[in-house]
Amino acid sequence: MTRVYNFSAGPAILPEAVLQQAREEMLDWRGSGMSVMEMSHRGKEFVSIAAEAEADLRDLLAIPENYKVLFLQGGASAQFAAVPFNLLRGKTSADYVNTGSWSKKAISEAKKHAGVNVAASGEASNFMSIPAQSEWQLDPNAAYLHYTPNETISGVEFHWVPETGDVPLVADMSSTILSRPIDVSRFGMIYAGAQKNIGPAGLTIVIVREDLLGHASPLTPSVLDYKVQADADSMSNTPPTYSWYLAGLVFKWLKEQGGLSAMAELNKRKAEKLYRAIDESSFYSNPVDPACRSWMNVPFLLADDALNKTFLAEAQEVGLTTLAGHRSVGGMRASIYNAMPEAGVDRLLAFMQEFERRNG
Ligand code: PMP
Repeated sequence: MTRVYNFSAGPAILPEAVLQQAREEMLDWRGSGMSVMEMSHRGKEFVSIAAEAEADLRDLLAIPENYKVLFLQGGASAQFAAVPFNLLRGKTSADYVNTGSWSKKAISEAKKHAGVNVAASGEASNFMSIPAQSEWQLDPNAAYLHYTPNETISGVEFHWVPETGDVPLVADMSSTILSRPIDVSRFGMIYAGAQKNIGPAGLTIVIVREDLLGHASPLTPSVLDYKVQADADSMSNTPPTYSWYLAGLVFKWLKEQGGLSAMAELNKRKAEKLYRAIDESSFYSNPVDPACRSWMNVPFLLADDALNKTFLAEAQEVGLTTLAGHRSVGGMRASIYNAMPEAGVDRLLAFMQEFERRNG
């Protein structure tokens, strides 16, 4: 068996130990005589798996008691709609911060439901930087403020949390959740698709403050209604059971690694190594403002675009895979989520330096 270092932005690399455990438990989960995939979501086995995963996630993120944690389907994209359905609470407008591709998608979905005030935009810097909060035009009557802490495509990340007073702060943490500790109490709601730092695709995690529940617009589809799902322990319909189980294994693995402070230290070190090497080279470049470079997604360009195909093919040959940048921006992108070992980053660096020697 040869496992590659997979730099995909998502679905992304998972911890090998987790995959091995899943393999061991595949045919017979702990004496139940069946795979987790085959279990009723209402049976005692799966209910215990679900509860344990939630408890471990609560531990990892230190989620306060007055927040519900939901395990839903539909991806982060369903949340682009679920957020206005649930959180407008009779108001007519919400604030959005536009820092790039994923913010724009959230904004265009919200516009179907509400007035959108773009409180700040990175457009002036071609979305390579984040405007300081002192420049934001916040609406004190906004139903909430939505932002994207990490833009997966451009590799632009907030290393700070916006201050919104009484206006609930809503964050699409799809590509940064669990990369470091966060103070959940600063947020009204957090959501994330699983397929980067949590587990397999198909699961979406929502963390929502209880006082925001129960005000959904009457047109809200029941599966997207946070109160309906919270009252049903995320089982108002069949949840993505296998992804939920796998996520639970990832949470246990994270705890074994020392939790989110340990992950933060490792993630910072992995990212800084890569950015330093890119900055020191005249062959590779990264256009993002150093103050908001992502720890999770590191895009970079080669001095000569014509070498992109060779770079990707040769990287593949040495077991470094899925390094192409998003189709909308080209170039390269190394996604280095929690499950990417530091050895994978070291291997990539060695390959980049060697490729530069031959082609620079
Ligand atoms: N938001 C962000 C920040 C993302 O990176 C992605 C997926 N790459 C999405 C939303 C969309 O997620 P999904 O495909 O799960 O709907």
